[in-house]
Amino acid sequence: MPALADTIWFNGQLIPWQQAQVHVMSHALHYGSSVFEGIRAYQTPQGPAILRLHDHIQRLYDSAKIYRMNLPFQPQQLVTACHQTLAANNLTNAYIRPLAFIGDVGLGLCPPVDAVCDMVVAAFPWRAYLGEDSAEQGVDVCVSSWQRLAANTMPTGAKAGGNYLSSQLISAEAKRHGYHEGIALDVHGRISEGAGENLFVVRNGALYTPPTTASILPGLTRDMVIKIAQQLGYTVHQESIARESLYLADELFMTGTAAEIVPVRSVDKISIGRGTRGPLTEAIQAAFFGLFDGSFSDRWGWLEPLQTE
Ligand code: PMP
Repeated sequence: MPALADTIWFNGQLIPWQQAQVHVMSHALHYGSSVFEGIRAYQTPQGPAILRLHDHIQRLYDSAKIYRMNLPFQPQQLVTACHQTLAANNLTNAYIRPLAFIGDVGLGLCPPVDAVCDMVVAAFPWRAYLGEDSAEQGVDVCVSSWQRLAANTMPTGAKAGGNYLSSQLISAEAKRHGYHEGIALDVHGRISEGAGENLFVVRNGALYTPPTTASILPGLTRDMVIKIAQQLGYTVHQESIARESLYLADELFMTGTAAEIVPVRSVDKISIGRGTRGPLTEAIQAAFFGLFDGSFSDRWGWLEPLQTE
């Protein structure tokens, strides 16, 4: 793979992209023992800003806590590392990928209790995850034959590397059958989330999204959409959603840091609404993207200005 940027932050140092290497016997490579984040930075009229950087880093440390991983840096040092990595690569609009993983600590399944994680921050330009025109044109999705993890198997509230084998099955199956993305049900047969996105249903002018008990990753974009929608005067229900509610939705959209806000135009080849982006989705998108061009006020302090020093 060609380098996506010049420099990567690796265990406290900025080093050339190609030199950021690990040993093939790294624990995470064998057992999926890593936690990570996906964060976006946007160019704004006030200069580049990182969207909810502190909240993302908090989620990284929460994920690590669940797995009892020892992280060798404080959260504030990772915040600084994200700023440094963006600045070192002259990036303004970018995707940031912090990662903590159990490295070359021996091959026992259970890592030594005093094993300390390696930590990485990469940053690079990244297009809209579900396709360049997905925000306007929408995407076609299917309900996956793979279910999300049951609550007592692996915690979906942790953003851990191993969880993404489930996401890969869901996403790859969908793509194999010609869809852009797959949606998983939870083990009770209720709607959970997309392979890497949360889901919102619009019906009679209100929004519905599965609760955190539906085996979802509680996304920060989901949280922002809830708050923006309420600010715009819409009611948002966090409640269990039946599969058939997807087919009967007036509008449907997915949210995530990588995907941003993407309308769903069909589910299992059933057209949603008129099969095009609906007005409520468009209003939420306009407010969300308006945070970055200054047309919608960031009253929550989500945009954290890039520090270049
Ligand atoms: N669910 C899953 C499984 C994800 O991987 C993501 C992307 N991080 C999301 C939901 C959306 O989360 P966020 O809005 O915080 O990116």
